[in-house]
Amino acid sequence: MTASSTAWKIDLRSDTSTRPSPAMLKRMIHAAVGDEQIAEDPTTRQLEERVAHELGQESAIFLPTGTMCNQIAFLVHCRPGDEIVASRLAHIVTSEGAGGAALAGASTQTIDTRNGIFTADQLRHAVRPQRDRSPRSRVVVIEQTSNRGGGAVWPLDVVKSIQREARSLGLAVHMDGARLFNAAVAADVELDHFTRECDSVWVDFTKSLGCPFGAVLAGSTDFVKQAWRWKHRLGGAMRQSGLMAAACLYALENNVTRLADDHANAQCFAECIDGQSGIMLAFRDIDTNIVFVDLSETGVSAENLLNELAPQGIRLSMEGQHLLRAVTHMDVSADDVAVAANAIIAAVESIRSRTHVAREHFKATTRLPAQTT
Ligand SMILES: *Cc1c(COP(=O)(O)O)cnc(C)c1O
Repeated sequence: MTASSTAWKIDLRSDTSTRPSPAMLKRMIHAAVGDEQIAEDPTTRQLEERVAHELGQESAIFLPTGTMCNQIAFLVHCRPGDEIVASRLAHIVTSEGAGGAALAGASTQTIDTRNGIFTADQLRHAVRPQRDRSPRSRVVVIEQTSNRGGGAVWPLDVVKSIQREARSLGLAVHMDGARLFNAAVAADVELDHFTRECDSVWVDFTKSLGCPFGAVLAGSTDFVKQAWRWKHRLGGAMRQSGLMAAACLYALENNVTRLADDHANAQCFAECIDGQSGIMLAFRDIDTNIVFVDLSETGVSAENLLNELAPQGIRLSMEGQHLLRAVTHMDVSADDVAVAANAIIAAVESIRSRTHVAREHFKATTRLPAQTT
C-alpha cells in the first residue's frame, strides 16, 4: 500500500519512486525531534549510531542525499589536484555534475569495465606513478551495487582485494553504497564484511526502501568530524531531521530483507523478455533489481517503445537509443513485472508489424523512377 497513487500503474524507471507507507508515516509523526545542527535531534543520532554500528564504522552523519555523501567524502579525502579512481560507469562519473572536479578540485581517472566491477590488478595499473608532475591518486570508489553495470554485486573477495591493494598504494577506499543493502541481501553477506575496511561508506534510504529522503555517510570519528564542517558549509545541516531519520529507522527494521522479493521479480522480468522478438538482456546475470533491456536486434527504438507503453501506464527509463532500464522495488509486484514484460513484447511486435505494413504499402504505391542507364 502506498501513501498516494500515481497515474502510472507500473513504474519501473527507478527504485527511487518508492513512497512512504502509512506505517512509515506514522513512525515519522511520532518521532522525537530536536535541533540536528547542535546534535540535539535524538532520532537522527539514533539512526547515525545504528548505521555506524551496522557498517562496522566508528561514526556516521545523516545527509539529505547520496550525492552529498559522495561529494563530502571527496572533499574530506582530496585536496585540489588529487585524483579519484572509479569505473567509467560509476554514478560519480556519469551523474553528479563532475562534482569531484567542481567542488573538491579532484580529477577522475576512469577504469574501463564490462559491468562496473574492476580488479585489484586494474586498480594498480590505473594509479599514477609517483612523479611530481602526476596527479596524486587519492581515493578509489567501489559502487556497490554497480548501477550502470546492471545492478551487479561486487563479490566479497573482490572488495577485499581492492581494499588490500588500495592500502598498499596509499589510497583511501570510498564505497558508494546507494544499493549496498541489495548487495548484502543478494550475496547473503553481513553488511560490515563489505564495509569495515572502507575509509568512508554510505547507504541510501531512497532506493527501494520507501523513504522520502536521506542517506547516512560513515567513517572514522575523525572523518565524520571533518564531514560535519562540510555539511555546514554546503548547507546540509538540518533542524528537526528526526522526522526523516524515523522513516529511515523504520526502513531498516522493515524494508531490507524484503529486497529479496525485488531481486526475484527482476529475475522473472528478465527471463520473461529474454530472446522474445529480438529483445536481449544487456547484462545476462541479474544479480539484484536492475535489468537493462537491449532493443538493438528488434529494430525498435527505446523512444518508440516507451511511447507505445505510456498509455498503458507502464514506465521504464531510457538509457540509449536502443537501451532501456527497468528497476524493481517495493511498489511493483510480481504480477506487475509479468504484465510489464508481456506489454513490452506485445509493443515491440505491434510497432514492428506497423512499420512492416507501412513499408509494404510504400513499395506497392510508389513507382520507382525509371532507370537512366
Ligand atoms: C542514486 C545514486 C546516487 C545518488 O543518490 P541520491 O540520493 O539520489 O543523491 C549515487 N550513486 C549511485 C550508484 C546511485 O544509484
